Amino acid sequence: MRIGFEEKIVDAVARIAAGLLEPEDYSVTLLADHVVDSIRIVGTRLRPRSSTIYCALCGRGPFTRKGYYLHLVRVHYSEILHLVREEAERAGRASKL
Ligand SMILES: [Zn+2]
Repeated sequence: MRIGFEEKIVDAVARIAAGLLEPEDYSVTLLADHVVDSIRIVGTRLRPRSSTIYCALCGRGPFTRKGYYLHLVRVHYSEILHLVREEAERAGRASKL
């Protein structure tokens, strides 16, 4: 993943997690398919379990959707990148089998 895509990746994950974007509606032609899949997977994983929104990573909240999005981008930026990298590496390895 090249520098510069990082912000777009974290933004997309946070939008999906906060319910501002549906995973299936996310697409971008500049990233490899397994990276796009990883963004969808991590975003879905970080979605709140109930209608009251608490952060899936640190438990803070409750948030509005917009508030949760901003919290994820501001507080969990590097954590989200790490999760996407891990997921993409796993997918990359699996595709070579
Ligand atoms: Zn948090």
